[in-house]
Amino acid sequence: MNTFHDLGLNEDLLHAITDLGFTKPSEVQEKAIPVLLNSETDLVALAQTGTGKTAAFGFPMLQKINVDSRTTQGLILSPTRELCLQITNEIKLYGKYCKGLNVVAIYGGASITEQAREVKRGAQIIVATPGRMKDMISRNMVDITKIEYSVLDEADEMLNMGFKEDITDILSHTPKDKNTWLFSATMPKEVAAIAKNFMHKPQEITVGTKNEGSSQVSHEYYLTNSRDRYLALKRLADANPDIFSVVFCRTKRDTQKVAEKLIEDGYNAGALHGDLSQNQRDLVMKAFRNNQIQMLVATDVAARGIDVDDITHVINYQLPDEIETYTHRSGRTGRAGKTGVSMVIISKSEVRKIKSIERIINKQFVKKEIPNGMEICEVQLMSLANKVHNTEVNHDIDNYLGKINELFEDSTKDELIKKFFSVEFSRFHNYYQKAPDLNISESSKSNDDDRSTSNTTRYFINVGKKDGYDWMSLKDFLKEILELGRDDVFKVEVKDSFSFFNTENEMKEKVLAFFTDFKYNGRYVNVEVSENRGGGGGRKRDRRRGGGQRDDRRSNFKGKNDRKSSSGKSKSRRSKSDDFVASRPRRSRR
Ligand code: ADP
Ligand code: MG
Repeated sequence: MNTFHDLGLNEDLLHAITDLGFTKPSEVQEKAIPVLLNSETDLVALAQTGTGKTAAFGFPMLQKINVDSRTTQGLILSPTRELCLQITNEIKLYGKYCKGLNVVAIYGGASITEQAREVKRGAQIIVATPGRMKDMISRNMVDITKIEYSVLDEADEMLNMGFKEDITDILSHTPKDKNTWLFSATMPKEVAAIAKNFMHKPQEITVGTKNEGSSQVSHEYYLTNSRDRYLALKRLADANPDIFSVVFCRTKRDTQKVAEKLIEDGYNAGALHGDLSQNQRDLVMKAFRNNQIQMLVATDVAARGIDVDDITHVINYQLPDEIETYTHRSGRTGRAGKTGVSMVIISKSEVRKIKSIERIINKQFVKKEIPNGMEICEVQLMSLANKVHNTEVNHDIDNYLGKINELFEDSTKDELIKKFFSVEFSRFHNYYQKAPDLNISESSKSNDDDRSTSNTTRYFINVGKKDGYDWMSLKDFLKEILELGRDDVFKVEVKDSFSFFNTENEMKEKVLAFFTDFKYNGRYVNVEVSENRGGGGGRKRDRRRGGGQRDDRRSNFKGKNDRKSSSGKSKSRRSKSDDFVASRPRRSRR
């Protein structure tokens, strides 16, 4: 077995490695470091999160650059501010005995002039997020024309986040003969394309099976109706009293909503998403690191920088759009040799997605039952009993023992125990004793969209098949422009020149407000409440037949194929809510 010494690293680095307490190289380090040290080559390395990629490129880069020169020779691009700072800190630690070394982090949300000043002092290595880097190049604040080594870290994530053009642009300012080292957890075709277009005969390294999730993680799914998703989430949390988890939602809106509800219900929860200020995000992350938050509800993008080792559960409140993203999510747990559980709450229509994920991660999911009320009560009771059993006695209580004993003079030990536990337990018991079964069966006929129509609003919209939509693409389109969650738009029925869809009543105001004056590709898109309730009982014939007066509005509507050019994003009305969530004692939880 190789030691760091065997890999060919110099004394300065070995000294730092000893300080860090790294005893042996990880697999990706063992494979990458000799290749990068001994040859001038491009490299594609695939390895999961937490496998030590930073050192795999960091050590060779540190050894190869010339610290006596103040020219920028190494450029590391990474997707988020958090990762950027993390890499910078690591590289500084690795290079602590490399005299004269200057590593500078460049990222958005902080003073650009201050960063430019630091670069000017002479940074041999720059660690940057693509957006800010591009900005600084265009303002002549950095010179990367002498770069010898460039690293694309978390390449799949950067591409997921839409940085492809920025990366292309940045690389066009670097010398052709530099070496590019690409690190990624997964290899979707976009990453393969980057490797093909920007790299010259890259050597390939794969750690573990391609795209395989961490072997320390077990995968479970729970089948329920969409409307019961939140209740299911609470049960999973209640059935795991010591949970320390990240709960993934698909949109910022759902993330905020779920976190707020959890807090309202007495859980130690917090939200992490892009609409929060940097300061708010830092506070939430701090609370999470300190275990004050047990359930961190996050979007995929915001969760990218989470480097917390002892996460016990990842909960997929909703499945991600991209299956690859699932690997990243589940990789948040089962780190540093610990085991973890990745749970997925799904509705029936998503069962086939589980099969696709299984193929990609090359592991089987276990179908689990959502715990029933009494099971949860038992778990909570036993957890409490264990806590009491393991509690260290506070001897200040001795002073009051006489009085307390007097009070319980006539109680037996059993009675006392029962009373004591009832204080905590009754709350759970009252809540759960009549709680319904949330499980549904895969084969049951009940339609996932079978919400009671009395709580929902049916709308008419003046686009249809003629505009290139089918029910799925119209649903996607509505979800996107209205920024709604996956299950918020349902019963979509597309006719030739018009369509119908439903939302919960509570969204009615938002939907109608959005479509007041909503122009799409130069044409007014009209949405009205329909009298047709849609599906369920007595599906009436639609009264509207898309009459003549609507046709003039439709004339220059170009249909869905053009929608990328104008996604209606300008209309976005995200609430930049400032009342981000903090933690709260867990006492009155429900
Ligand atoms: P990745 O980029 O693959 O997600 P990191 O480079 O961030 O992983 O490393 C994860 C953690 O493991 C860091 O805290 C790092 O200091 C530590 N680490 C890296 N290499 C080793 C090693 N050889 N031995 C022990 N710990 C290591
Ligand atoms: Mg990394």
